[in-house]
Amino acid sequence: MLHHITHANIIGPDKVFDADIHIENGKITTLEPPGSLPVAGGVTTTDASGLYILPGGIDPHVHLALHTPAGPSADDFDSGSRTALAGGVTHIIDFVTPRRGQPLTEALRERQKEARDCSIGLNFHMGISGWLPDMEKQMEICVKEHGIRSFKAYLAYRNNIGIGYEELEKIMRIAARLGAIVLVHAEEDDSIEQLRGEFIRKGMTHPRYHPLSRPPETESMAVKKVIELVKKTGCTIYLVHISAAESAEQIARAKKEGLPLLAETCPQYLAFDDSVYEGSFEQTAPFVFSPPARPAQHKDLLWEHLQQNTFDTVATDHCPFTMKQKMEGKDNFTLIPNGAGGLEFRIPLLHHFGVLQNKISLQQWVQLSTSHAASIFGLQNKGTIAPGKDADLVFFNPGKKVKLSAATQQQNCDINIYEGLEIAGYVEKVMLHGEFHYY
Ligand SMILES: [Zn+2]
Repeated sequence: MLHHITHANIIGPDKVFDADIHIENGKITTLEPPGSLPVAGGVTTTDASGLYILPGGIDPHVHLALHTPAGPSADDFDSGSRTALAGGVTHIIDFVTPRRGQPLTEALRERQKEARDCSIGLNFHMGISGWLPDMEKQMEICVKEHGIRSFKAYLAYRNNIGIGYEELEKIMRIAARLGAIVLVHAEEDDSIEQLRGEFIRKGMTHPRYHPLSRPPETESMAVKKVIELVKKTGCTIYLVHISAAESAEQIARAKKEGLPLLAETCPQYLAFDDSVYEGSFEQTAPFVFSPPARPAQHKDLLWEHLQQNTFDTVATDHCPFTMKQKMEGKDNFTLIPNGAGGLEFRIPLLHHFGVLQNKISLQQWVQLSTSHAASIFGLQNKGTIAPGKDADLVFFNPGKKVKLSAATQQQNCDINIYEGLEIAGYVEKVMLHGEFHYY
């Protein structure tokens, strides 16, 4: 299968340039001067004039078919693949979440079965839900036999899948020896559980108490302790879904000191502030995700840190729930399943709020949504448009105006937290391994 893409305005992580792209059997073989590839028999040719061509998006933080007491999250691997492609995402990294005490490789096999219907690129972070007696051996098997490069630990949710700092330190020491990365959900579980309990006892059950039960300090305190563990162990840490300004400031300082620290934020913290928690249950429950949206000044500071490269990636933590599922917490916000969808909108939102507002450059847009994730998580054939790389390409129309809505999304959910937002610039079509997919 030969394919020529002519007059491509390529947005790369280092430079923006024009070229024709020659694609053979799902791979980019050569880049040629713009307009030089001939229209020939047997070759499909696509004229990309007027569009940006980006490397296929990589979202390194996605939860499809996540098991919760309110049932599985709304997108399974089939609908999740569609919502990803519609948003210019050709590769996702999801999670294996072992039950406490379950062998890691057994949990991996179960998760691989659940993911059979995935039609885009996929790999997994391995969750660590508690200490196992032969932890070192099990982590080694994951890395050496199953190609796992990253483990995930939750400091929140201690009564379920979370672990404590002592266990985290032991896991970091093992990961450092294995050359693996540890992803950390940094929130102080003890203070959060105490605050949640107090609110519920006092009858303060509305979703507005969700952000008040997880104030910014509960994140930045945990970030501080994790940075201390990085100093002690030398393990590379990737902090997921950073939402608070103080956390970002500590990360920036640690990076200046040369510590092996990587950090992610998400579109929901760049688009919303905590005013989304004022309103009826139906209006506010969609915004119950953790960490929560923060007071407005945090959002502005996160954008500054994005510009200054404090963050390596913008991922979504995609985990939508339907209104029926959110209703589980109608009388108690702690029972609302935590999460929202964003896979479909991450790349357009970063363009709309970031590139068009001159907060980030076109190159940073691609770094944050694709190329950094490729290099951090070892996806060698992805992340840039160059000979030898997979022909995973996003055709992005910077002039296309779209109103986001649950009524038109591919996401399998009746909620869209960006409902009614009009944005400029949208994904026109996506090529995955040299084949077009339209939504
Ligand atoms: Zn997550």
